[in-house]
Amino acid sequence: MHEDAVRNRLWIGNEWVDAEDGGTFQTINPATGEVITEVASAQAADVDKAVASARGAMAEWRKVNPHKRSQLLWRLADAIEANADELGALETADNGKPYFESRKIDVPSVVEIFRYFAGLADKVQGATIPVAGPFLNYTLREPVGIVGCITPWNFPLSMATWKTAPALACGNVVVLKPAEQTPLTALRLGELAAEVGFPPGVLNVVPGFGETAGAALVRNPDVDAIAFTGSTEVGKIVMREAADTLKKVSLELGGKSPNVVLADADLKSAVRGATSGIFYGKGEVCAAGSRVIVERAIYDDFVEAFAKGASKMTVGDPMDSGTRLGAIVSEEQLERVMSYVEAGKSEGARLVHGGERTDVDGKGNFVTATVFADVEPGMKIAQEEIFGPVAAVIPVDDIEDAIHTANHTIYGLAAGIWTRDIGKAHRIAQEIQAGTVWINTYNQYDAASPFGGYKQSGFGRDLGYQAALDKYTQTKSVWVAVDG
Ligand code: ADP
Repeated sequence: MHEDAVRNRLWIGNEWVDAEDGGTFQTINPATGEVITEVASAQAADVDKAVASARGAMAEWRKVNPHKRSQLLWRLADAIEANADELGALETADNGKPYFESRKIDVPSVVEIFRYFAGLADKVQGATIPVAGPFLNYTLREPVGIVGCITPWNFPLSMATWKTAPALACGNVVVLKPAEQTPLTALRLGELAAEVGFPPGVLNVVPGFGETAGAALVRNPDVDAIAFTGSTEVGKIVMREAADTLKKVSLELGGKSPNVVLADADLKSAVRGATSGIFYGKGEVCAAGSRVIVERAIYDDFVEAFAKGASKMTVGDPMDSGTRLGAIVSEEQLERVMSYVEAGKSEGARLVHGGERTDVDGKGNFVTATVFADVEPGMKIAQEEIFGPVAAVIPVDDIEDAIHTANHTIYGLAAGIWTRDIGKAHRIAQEIQAGTVWINTYNQYDAASPFGGYKQSGFGRDLGYQAALDKYTQTKSVWVAVDG
């Protein structure tokens, strides 16, 4: 790892500071169990300090002209690109995902997102409205103010980027609270922003625990909006707490996404899509295709091929190029995953691959790629988000049964459909209640395409310029009498 890239203090007003009470927490490499560093642990007083710093920066930031704002975001993208190896290694050490994923997928997408939103920064504009009477009426699209971003541990740098890039592009100032398991890339992001010229206070990063630092950010009356990605359970708490100060809240929450395979699908592609759909990112992906819904006509063939696909998900050192399944982010998460494996067995699902805890050189939090077949739609492993490499394969009779089963969940984040029949594909895409539908592909993302949930997977969208304007600006209507 790039030791010299490790930062472990709070980033407030473009300076490194300790927590006021001097408290720290350990951040651990889940592939080795080693402590990477002790990170300053923000308490309410520290969060309030970061919010005050953001508030102080707002007047100056609003004066920065939009072209310059755009240029700063572009430069930040350049700086991330220039430090891609280091950021990739940092992410892998903190999260446990294969270096290939961090370096070749996450970091390049982060660069692309900063560039995309650099393009938005000087295009945030209002309209003139044809009102009745002798008036000129126009709208201003103004920043919301201070945006508190709370992000999870599965895609630490990406999730920080999904929130901060559009928020900054729209002229807001930001206090970012990364997940306590994986604070390192967010801290480095704050520092890189300062290096390319972002003024002090515009982007602050306060690592700490959810119930202390996260809750303090949600409660602080000076914070105008909360952009949250995390579990549905915590999303509900955030929404309740935010009600006291009527913050604008956007929530990107959990999922139990269906990957529907129809009998006429190209079996090879469908198996490949189902395999990467659940095992990419160790299944610690909110959009993971964790319910694989398969028409009975091809069910046996599919299950056999899927188990074979799972067997190719090589568990190993995340820094090895041959590794496909990295380390589960924490011991706690590993135990949670194993408890679902037990639940699957005891509820009578058929374990056709994996389901074992394992290690690499005697160390680390590793689980083999796990496939349960003959899963009933009501079973725990078909209803609850596991957030790990565990697939539940559910047989269905026909398309109607597939749609019904796909929608039989409290969640609605994403869905996949595999079929050669384009008419069926579009029909199912319309009927599935999910914020993203992939047809004959899975896990595709782009800076320009909105992402977010239906149902208890949340509301508000990340990515795409329209979603950014909806979330990170507010509209002011100005009336001018034109005929005295
Ligand atoms: P995950 O399942 O990804 O761990 P969580 O919802 O637990 O998701 O965490 C997502 C983010 O929310 C993390 O940054 C975490 O620290 C934060 N968080 C957890 N509890 C709270 C809370 N009560 N208030 C605000 N933020 C919280």
